Amino acid sequence: MVAVSIVGWAAEPPAVEKARFELELIKELASIGAVSRARLQLAEDKLSDARDEDTLRRLLYGRIGVEELSESQAKELVDAAGRRVERVARQYEGQRALVDQGVISKGQVDDIERQLADRRLGLQLAESRAKMFEDLLNMAKIEELFAAEPQEADEPKPVVETFTGSGVFKDAHLKYVEAAFEKQFGKPLPISARGQSALHTMLGFDHSGRVDVGVNPDDEEGEWLRNQLKALQVPYIALRAMIPGKSTAPHIHIGLPSSRLKHADTHSGGSLN
Ligand SMILES: [Zn+2]
Repeated sequence: MVAVSIVGWAAEPPAVEKARFELELIKELASIGAVSRARLQLAEDKLSDARDEDTLRRLLYGRIGVEELSESQAKELVDAAGRRVERVARQYEGQRALVDQGVISKGQVDDIERQLADRRLGLQLAESRAKMFEDLLNMAKIEELFAAEPQEADEPKPVVETFTGSGVFKDAHLKYVEAAFEKQFGKPLPISARGQSALHTMLGFDHSGRVDVGVNPDDEEGEWLRNQLKALQVPYIALRAMIPGKSTAPHIHIGLPSSRLKHADTHSGGSLN
């Protein structure tokens, strides 16, 4: 972890670097009594805010897929977005008070009002991303649960339907299915986890060479996908909604069930990584 944070430090984004540089300067001035305690606090807030903004840029607006997040990153994201709201909310309160006292005009708080609305939206997005992450986490846990305790398959619609086929799932199969799905439904195959993700690694599952697709097995799309996989003899697990005691989204896992990661294997990726 030490090596990682050093790398992160070296690659500090310009806005954070600038705020840190300013803070160092203000600290020096404060040490000789040249600036007020309030001015120092302002510089500290500015640095914290730049860091939080960078967290949002990386984990919310960046290219990182929700399935690539770790549990701590999902929390970090919501915390950073929350602090960004609080900081501006405090400023806004202060300025509102000045408006009430007639010190400044109402128009002068427009900017900060807009900023507050933007940041509240950012918090909403962060929370919904964290919720998506939680759903994926539950999905992965459910797969493991059913890989461990196979279901009775004699019910008409078992909660979990397992198809083994030839037991082989290759890149070429996925490419074919993705193209065929897009042609059929006019949109990309909604893949929620492609190969090994940080999430599966965290849970200790080997999900390499496996893919999760966020479709309901009994919808038109899910039924189509199951038929394709059967025709290709590609193994899959169809997980239906409402598994007692668990809240998870229905989906189709393509490939053999996940196995437990052996410690030494955590860095070996599958072909679908
Ligand atoms: Zn899966």
